[in-house]
Amino acid sequence: MSFASDCKEELCKIENKRSCCLKAECYGLLLFSKCFSPRETRMICENAAVAHRLAEAAAVSADVYAEVRAQQRRKNTGAFSIAIPGEDARLRMLASFGHTDRAVSLHIHEENLKRDCCVASFLRGVFLVCGTITDPNKEYHLEFSTPHFHLAQELAALLQRVPAAQLSPAVAKRKSGYMVYLKESGAIEDFLTLIGAVNAAMALMQIKMYKEAYNNMNRVSNCETANLDKTYSAASRQIAAIALINDKVGLDALPDDLREAAVLRLHNPEMSLREMSGRLSISRSGVNHRLRRILEFAETLGSPEKEAAAQRTEKNGNA
Ligand SMILES: [Zn+2]
Repeated sequence: MSFASDCKEELCKIENKRSCCLKAECYGLLLFSKCFSPRETRMICENAAVAHRLAEAAAVSADVYAEVRAQQRRKNTGAFSIAIPGEDARLRMLASFGHTDRAVSLHIHEENLKRDCCVASFLRGVFLVCGTITDPNKEYHLEFSTPHFHLAQELAALLQRVPAAQLSPAVAKRKSGYMVYLKESGAIEDFLTLIGAVNAAMALMQIKMYKEAYNNMNRVSNCETANLDKTYSAASRQIAAIALINDKVGLDALPDDLREAAVLRLHNPEMSLREMSGRLSISRSGVNHRLRRILEFAETLGSPEKEAAAQRTEKNGNA
């Protein structure tokens, strides 16, 4: 089961306690379905619970029979085709929500959602029939799709003025129509809570918390890796210098304290300053000071890079 279908299953279990809310949800379900038309059209719905809720909405709110047929689709995924047979029945359904004209262009008739309680129920119906949500483990995205421009615009406006939530919806044109979407995790969480998908909202919140904790952990470990890289690059410069001194004049040319540090570094390239200070029984700044003097000593003999370049030229010359 996907996150979206779990969420819809949860919503389909909600019982509308007030008749005004029941009607509002039915309106959302029907208006944003492909069946809300004077012409006979069939719509495909993948979710069994939603298909039956849609049929129930037609029966309860407009006393209209909706035909639901099970279909077998590719990859054995089931789906349902829904239609409202009979032009009289379809016109009756439209009229019961105040849509008396036969215009193809649809609008949200706000008389059907006069109270705040009804807005939430209406939005639940809309989400059930034309909405979807991406698994929050992948990304935060909740969208509605409709072929009708005005419905998309008016839905976005309605979402915008939902009380006690900053949903900030956006509208985009698509090949098959229009998409109204929410991108911000907090807005998606608020929307799910508003329409009654409390478990889905909690699941999203948990995933978000887990993601944040994981990112923080990664940031810390990246930081540690960066420090490790720093240690390595400093150590590799020191080792190059020590090797140069050894080649040119021998490590015995170094004063005892520097030779001690040089030998320790040579055999322990990954050792941190703190560990070296423990081994040499001197402070960290003392170790740092010795290593710097080793580098300076090597510089008086010529830089290791120059040395390597000189050797390359020599080889090429010989060849
Ligand atoms: Zn209500």
